[in-house]
Amino acid sequence: MSRIAIVERKKCNPTNCGNFLCQRVCPVNRKGDECVFEAEGKVGIDESLCIGCGICVKKCPFEAIQIINLPAQLDKPPIHCYGKNGFHLFNLPMPIFGKVVGIIGKNGIGKTTAINILSGLLSPNLGVPRKKAKLAELIEYFKGTELHNYFEKLNAGEINVAVKPQQVSMLPKHFKGSVKELLIEMDEKKQLNEIAKTLELENIFDRKLDQISGGELQRVAIAACVLRKANVYFFDEPTSYLDIKQRIKVSKFIRNLADENTAVVVIEHDLIILDYMTDQIHITFGAPSAYGVVSSIAATKEGINEYLAGFLRKENMRFRANTISFDDKPPVKTIQGDLLVSWDNLSKTLGSFKFRASPGGLSRKHVIGVLGENGIGKSTFMKILAGELKVDSGKVSDKVSLAYKPQYIDTDSDMIVREYLKEVIAKFSTELVAPLKLEKLFNEPLKQLSGGELQKVMIAKTLGQEAVNLFLLDEPSAYLDVEQRLITSKVISKLIHNSGKTALIIDHDLLFMDYLSEDLIVFEGEPAKRGQLEGPFEMEKGMNKFLTDLNLSMRRDQESKRPRVNKLNSRLDREQKGKKKLYYS
Ligand code: SF4
Ligand code: SF4
Repeated sequence: MSRIAIVERKKCNPTNCGNFLCQRVCPVNRKGDECVFEAEGKVGIDESLCIGCGICVKKCPFEAIQIINLPAQLDKPPIHCYGKNGFHLFNLPMPIFGKVVGIIGKNGIGKTTAINILSGLLSPNLGVPRKKAKLAELIEYFKGTELHNYFEKLNAGEINVAVKPQQVSMLPKHFKGSVKELLIEMDEKKQLNEIAKTLELENIFDRKLDQISGGELQRVAIAACVLRKANVYFFDEPTSYLDIKQRIKVSKFIRNLADENTAVVVIEHDLIILDYMTDQIHITFGAPSAYGVVSSIAATKEGINEYLAGFLRKENMRFRANTISFDDKPPVKTIQGDLLVSWDNLSKTLGSFKFRASPGGLSRKHVIGVLGENGIGKSTFMKILAGELKVDSGKVSDKVSLAYKPQYIDTDSDMIVREYLKEVIAKFSTELVAPLKLEKLFNEPLKQLSGGELQKVMIAKTLGQEAVNLFLLDEPSAYLDVEQRLITSKVISKLIHNSGKTALIIDHDLLFMDYLSEDLIVFEGEPAKRGQLEGPFEMEKGMNKFLTDLNLSMRRDQESKRPRVNKLNSRLDREQKGKKKLYYS
C-alpha cells in the first residue's frame, strides 16, 4: 500500500459541490475507469486506480478529500482502518513487563485506537472494513515481532488489562453514586484504603462524582483503574486537570506499578512528565484523521529528542519538516516597564480560606505565567483585579478590563464555529485563525468539537476581544497535543507583543510555561486554607522559588535544550540544590 485516499463523509456534500464534482474532474474517471465512485450518497475512491494527481483535493469546495502518499517503509497493511476511505492505523505500541512505555504524538493519529486494540476493546480489521480479526490472525500478523508474544499471551488468557480512559469528564454520566461507592465496586485488589490515601481521595469519599473537580475526577479515575486486578495497565492522558505537584505524585505512583509481572502504557502530552514517568517511548506520526503510524520503540530521552527533531533515527525517516527547538538559557527579562496594574499588600478572607499578596504589578506587553497548586487563590486574585471582589485590606491601582478563558470549557451549544468566532475571523484571521488552524472547524457545531478543537476555539475567542487590556487563560494547554501547545504559546506571545496588552497564563505544563512566560507569579500555601501570591519574578528567580517548594531541580537536555526534571538525589539534583540553582545549572 503506497497511497491512501481519505473522504470525510461528514464534509462531502455532492448536491452542493455541483453534483459529484470530484468524479467529473478525476483524470482516471475521464478515461473511463471508476476511480471515484458513488458510495451511499457520498463518494468513494479506489486507491488501486488513483494516480495521486491531487486534482480532486484541489477542486472539492468542502475540503472533504485527502490523498496521502505513505512513507515507503510501510510495507504492511494497516492494523485497522475506519472504513475503506477512513482513518488508517499502522503498527501498535509494545507493552513491556517491568517498564512504563509512553506514547507521544499529535491528536487524531490513532493513539487511543492503538490502546483500544491492545486492551481488547476494539477488534482490529487489518485494513479490511467490517472484518473483525481473530486473535490467531493477530498472532500471525505480528509474527517475528515482540507483539507476537503479547497477542499469544492475550489469546492464552494470561493478560488482564485495565484502562484509565481519556475523558474523565464522562465518568459522572456513567456512574451516579459517590466516590467511595465507585471505588468499592472497582476494588478487585482489596487495596482501596491504601490507594485512596496515596492519591489523596479520602476527603472526597462521600461526594458524588458530579460534585468534584476535574483534578479530583482524574485521580478517582486513576484509582479505579489501578484497583482492578490486571497485569497490563493503560493510562490515556493521566495528568490533565492535575496541578504540577499532583502530576509529579501521580507520575511516581504510575512508575511504581511496573514490575516484572506488570506492564504500563501511558499516553501523555506533558513532555516533562512523560520524560519523568516513562522508560521507553513510541512516537506516533501521520496526518490527523487520515493515517497514523506507531514508530519502533526508543529509550525515553532519545525518543523525545527524535520527536522534537522530527526525525526517526531507526527508521531513517523525517516525519516533520521543522525541528522544535528551545532556548539554551532562559531569556533574561526585566519586569519593569509600562505597568498595566499594580497592587500593594493585599488580603482577603473567604470563609476559611485566606488570600494574601505581596506588592507587585503587571507590565503591558508581557506574558506572565502563574504557577501554583489548585485551590490556592488564583481565581480569587483574578476577581480582585477585575473589581469583582473587594479586598479586606490593601489597594489595587486600577480596575482592569479582563477577558477570561475558564479551565473547564464543556459546551452543548449547537452554534457553528464560524458564527461563534465571527468577529475574530473578521479581525484576527492572520494572528489567530490561520496559525490555530481554525478554518477547518468553521462549519462544525461547538458541541461536536473534540476537547483540543474546543480549546483552540476558546483561546481565539478570548484573545480576539479587542476592548480588554488583560487576558487570563486558565489551563490553555489542556487537551492540546504537544505540537499544538507549542504553536499556541507562540500565537499568544506574538499577539501580546503586537497588541501591547498583557496575558496571565495559569498552566501546569512546565514545558509550555517555560516556552511562553517572561515573568512568573508563584502561589504558595495550602489548598482551600491559605494562598500567598509572590511576584511577578523574572523567569529564573520564579522557577527557583517554585521548584524549591516542590523539592525538584531542572536542567536543560544537552541535545534538544528542552527542560528536564532531575532524578531526586541524582548527582545533578544534589549539585544544583547545593548551589541553590534549581532551574538549569
Ligand atoms: Fe463533491 Fe467534495 Fe463530495 Fe467530491 S468529495 S462529491 S467534490 S463534496
Ligand atoms: Fe482521481 Fe487524481 Fe483524485 Fe486520485 S487524486 S482520485 S486520480 S483526481
